Amino acid sequence: MNFQWYPGHMTKARRAMEESIKLVDLVIELVDARIPVSSRNPDIDSLGRNKARMILLNKADLADEKMNAAWEAYFRAKGYEVVRLDARQKSGMKTVQAAIETACREKRERDRRRGILNRPVRAMVAGIPNVGKSTFINSFAGRAAAKTGNKPGVTKGNQWIKLNKNVELLDTPGILWPKFEDQQVGLRLAWIGSIKDDILQGEELAAELIGYLREEYPGILNARYQVEESGENFEILEEVARNRACVKKGNEPDCSRAAAMLLEDFRGGRLGRITLEKPGGDNAHEQ
Ligand code: GDP
Repeated sequence: MNFQWYPGHMTKARRAMEESIKLVDLVIELVDARIPVSSRNPDIDSLGRNKARMILLNKADLADEKMNAAWEAYFRAKGYEVVRLDARQKSGMKTVQAAIETACREKRERDRRRGILNRPVRAMVAGIPNVGKSTFINSFAGRAAAKTGNKPGVTKGNQWIKLNKNVELLDTPGILWPKFEDQQVGLRLAWIGSIKDDILQGEELAAELIGYLREEYPGILNARYQVEESGENFEILEEVARNRACVKKGNEPDCSRAAAMLLEDFRGGRLGRITLEKPGGDNAHEQ
C-alpha cells in the first residue's frame, strides 16, 4: 500500500490530529518495529504534550526480537509505556490493556484527587499510514465493542468504542505523515513498502537492502538464495536472479524481477525477522 504525501495532505492531517487530540487523555502511537524511528513523525511530541503517551512497536513479529527488546528499552527510557505487538493477534491485547492502565495512572490519580471517580480514559490511536492502526483497532475493539455514538462536545462523526468500563477509544485513528524528506528515512520506508520511492528504482532499492543485510545479518541472503555475500551489491542481485531463474531473453539475469522478489520476500518476513535501524544509530531525526 504505497502512499504519496503532498503539503496539502500534511496540513489537513495535522489539523485533523490537532482536533482529535483535544478529545483524549491518552495517545496510543503505533510505529513499525522494523523502523521505529523512521516510522514516526516527531511532531507527535508537540501535538501530544500534556497527554498520556504509549508506543506500540507493531509488526514486532517481522522484526528482530533482540532489537525489539533494545527499542523497547530505548522508548521506556524516554518515559513511554511500550508494548511489542502483532496487531493481527487478539492475544496481545491484554498486555495493551494493562499498559494503558499504567500509562494513565497519573491521570486517574489526578481525577481521584478532584473527586472524579470512574471516568473512563479516552484514547486515540495514531501513526503514519500502513503501520497497522486499523488492524489494531479491530483486534482491540473486538466484536463485542459497542459504538457509543456521538456525545456532546464531540466533533460530529467521531465515534467512541467502549472497550470496557475503563477505556473508550476514538474509532478513527489519527494519521501522521512520515518524514520522508530525509533520504535514509525515505529508504527505510521504501524498504518496508510504505512509500513509493520515485528516486530509487526497485533494483537500487534491493541493492541497498542487500548492502544492509550482508552487513547486519550476514548469512541471511546465502540461506535463502544460495548466493556468495561478496563483491558488489548489484553482483549479488544478479546472482539472486540467476539462482532463482529470473532470466531474460539470451539468458541475461533479470535484475528487476529479482529485485521485486527480494523486496517482497523481505516484506513478507521470508528472509527472517529483520530490523532496519538501531537505537543510537545514524537515525537522522532521532530525538
Ligand atoms: P493503517 O494504514 O495504519 O491502518 O494499517 P493497516 O491496519 O491497514 O495495516 C497495514 C497492513 O499491515 C495490513 O496488510 C495488515 O494486515 C498488516 N499488519 C498490521 N499489523 C500487523 C502486524 O502486527 N504484523 C504483521 N505481520 N502485519 C500487520
